[in-house]
Amino acid sequence: MSEQDCIFCKIVRGEIPAEIVHQDEHTIAFKDIHPAAPVHVLVVPRKHIPSLDDITPADQDLLGRMLVAASRIAKAQGVADSGYRTVINCREEAGQVVFHLHLHILGGRRMRLMG
Ligand code: 5GP
Ligand code: ZN
Repeated sequence: MSEQDCIFCKIVRGEIPAEIVHQDEHTIAFKDIHPAAPVHVLVVPRKHIPSLDDITPADQDLLGRMLVAASRIAKAQGVADSGYRTVINCREEAGQVVFHLHLHILGGRRMRLMG
């Protein structure tokens, strides 16, 4: 899928709405449209990278920024103390459906082993 058609690129460009909870020069984060937990936020790089397996060493800083953003967002969303899960689904068998790299932040309920 091209950047033109990518749904998360459209959110990054402001072409479709999202409930944005954080943005900076390199990342943007918004609430998942179908939340799987009381807190379900997606941290997305502004750069279009299809999956975790498409990163290069040049993206190392960006990935660190995504985690730093996740930690700040978890605090702001009130789940840092109770705990939260971060997930990156990579490609089809992991259940990736949007092919623009994103980190899920899930919190506000007790997580089971796989969900
Ligand atoms: P994946 O399975 O690819 O890791 O997760 C993609 C996530 O993106 C899903 O949890 C899905 O609910 C969410 N999602 C898909 N389309 C949209 C959208 O247009 N807006 C928002 N906010 N979330 C979306
Ligand atoms: Zn994209």
